[in-house]
Amino acid sequence: MRSLISILDFSVEELDQLICTAKDIAAHPEKYWDACAHKTLATLFFEPSTRTRLSFEAAMLELGGNVLGFSEAGSSSAAKGESVSDTAKTVSNYANIIAMRHPKEGAPFVASLGATIPVINAGDGSHQHPTQTLADLLTIHKEMGRLHDLTIGLCGDLKYGRTVHSLIEAMSRYSGIRFVLIAPEELKLPDYVRVGVLDKHGIPYVEVTSLEDAIPELDILYMTRIQRERFDDPAEYERLKDSYVLTAEKIEAAKENMAVLHPLPRVNEISVKVDDDPRAAYFRQTMNGKHMRMALILKLLAEAEKNPAKKPLEVDGMVYDKACHNAKCISQTEQELRHIAKPSDDGLRCIYCDQLV
Ligand code: ASP
Repeated sequence: MRSLISILDFSVEELDQLICTAKDIAAHPEKYWDACAHKTLATLFFEPSTRTRLSFEAAMLELGGNVLGFSEAGSSSAAKGESVSDTAKTVSNYANIIAMRHPKEGAPFVASLGATIPVINAGDGSHQHPTQTLADLLTIHKEMGRLHDLTIGLCGDLKYGRTVHSLIEAMSRYSGIRFVLIAPEELKLPDYVRVGVLDKHGIPYVEVTSLEDAIPELDILYMTRIQRERFDDPAEYERLKDSYVLTAEKIEAAKENMAVLHPLPRVNEISVKVDDDPRAAYFRQTMNGKHMRMALILKLLAEAEKNPAKKPLEVDGMVYDKACHNAKCISQTEQELRHIAKPSDDGLRCIYCDQLV
């Protein structure tokens, strides 16, 4: 049995297979109408969501399965102080698969350690969002016809934007990828991605501040929202919130076949006037997200049926009882959770949130 916590849990071949299945689902939905009959997906959303939760629910319903769950922490026993692990153990008796979103980094991973059914990370704090990456991969594949030899501009909040972190991890495994990281100084990519992924694998990238200067060379422009809910200082958010706005004028300088992606929700970083431009792929991306989540549910359920045993937690060179000091890490709130670190190029990192310990 496997869970999807990080996009790196899947090999490139497995991602290719998911893309193939998603395309087949889109072309022949009727073949899949009963594929998950008598199976139940639990959506445990401790943080707001529109697309991710509803697309998971639509995905399971279109596979003929059932859905249960909650959409805010206040309506679950988390409000009474229940641990993520206990919630996951309990829900394992009511469902066959869990999709979990949580504000604490590493929470779905902790849930997967407690659950006896597969757990899908549907977004954990500013850390990772692997199923958005599945939607992004299918979108890039459909819009550009390939996942290799692309210059990808990532623009906006690269510090707190979890979708960017997962997308960089995924795209770094394809050949000929170059990143243009467009962000204000305060919202640059965190080191665990810049050093731990880009530098480690020798992926070419530049860090710039001007969207206008970068746009002409891009094949993909991935716009992101400034993540208001992650800022400790509201004044800092106010100062940075309008850092980038893609307008109809700015997109004129782009390649004719560039694709604009955005994980949504959009606040005002893309003018609505861009929506009618054929390069605007972000609403097509939401449909792709549903098809990839259908393919993912099918894969994880089939694997769990074939091999229900859980893999023990094993990380090369694990070091126990090294405290993590990231206030947003799940290890700060779950009292019983053992602190564990793993070696990386620049020191020991927490296994839950990836920050240096
Ligand atoms: N929907 C995406 C996420 O959950 C992007 C965002 O919220 O800005 O991370």
